[in-house]
Amino acid sequence: MKTISILIPCYNEQESLPTLYERLKELMDSIENYQFEIMFVNDGSRDDTLKIIKDLRVKDSRVNYVDLSRNFGKEIAMIAGIDHINTDAMIVMDADLQDPPELIKEMLYWWEQGYKDVCAKRKSRAGETWFKKWSSHTYYKILQKVSRIPVQPDVGDFRLLDRQCIEALKELRETQRYTKGLFSWIGFDKKEILFDRDARIAGKTKWNYFGLFNLAVEGITSFTIFPLRLASIIGIAIAVLAIIYMLFIIVKTLIYGGDVAGYPSLISVILFIGGVQLVFLGIMGEYLGRIFNETKGRPLYFVKECSKSK
Ligand code: UDP
Ligand code: MG
Repeated sequence: MKTISILIPCYNEQESLPTLYERLKELMDSIENYQFEIMFVNDGSRDDTLKIIKDLRVKDSRVNYVDLSRNFGKEIAMIAGIDHINTDAMIVMDADLQDPPELIKEMLYWWEQGYKDVCAKRKSRAGETWFKKWSSHTYYKILQKVSRIPVQPDVGDFRLLDRQCIEALKELRETQRYTKGLFSWIGFDKKEILFDRDARIAGKTKWNYFGLFNLAVEGITSFTIFPLRLASIIGIAIAVLAIIYMLFIIVKTLIYGGDVAGYPSLISVILFIGGVQLVFLGIMGEYLGRIFNETKGRPLYFVKECSKSK
């Protein structure tokens, strides 16, 4: 029998877990021919999440968990779970039921057809502001333009991955992870299926705009050095303009003689170039920071306890 893991990172999800489990149980019981496992990753929750998971495990041996030593964030929680998964396929989903478990049947169907990565593409997103939708749309467009790997717009982490993809992901050990990009980067045959993203059933989203901005920068800096190249291009353009302007001044001085006026143009040029330099120093800093973090070579996470060995 083929084995399937359902990977669920959880951070303070005590309100959602009971309903989530009910929905999953119903689904798992209705699908024969597969052996299911639920792999909860408790990402340092401060509420009763771990207790609820442990209670579920007592009732149902299909429930497994990894308890991290503190909150590491969803991206790290996912790789922690992946490291503990040894099944033929895995499904990643959120704990808040924004990803309908019923879609798993369709994912399994396409997996059987030979696709290695069946991802759920959002047709609509309930319970999200227009600003969030608009900013995410624009961001994906930009990311697509500046990076060479194909970015899938409106596709989240909700997907089914074949064993080959799982093994590939286990090998990517970068500390600042942008998992959505990694899914694209590893390649393999992808199939997109459409669904309506529901609103959260309970609790609050863990994201604020600052967090999303950080994730956005993460996405760009981990997949392309385009901003560095942009810095070079603009730098060259400004240098060329500066030379032309210099020649103009020299010629003008030779013909008409020198004059001391010109303070406004001088100060605006200084400010402009100063500003451009600061922006590019910032961009360099972003990449330098990434190098700094990677060179430390720390393990990605620590496990407090888990119900299953690697
Ligand atoms: N999550 C996590 N660690 C965190 C933040 C979130 O494991 O530090 C989990 C969370 O429990 C949920 C999933 O990641 O299962 C998605 O989080 P959320 O619903 O807050 O994000 P959104 O759906 O708003 O993008
Ligand atoms: Mg959510």
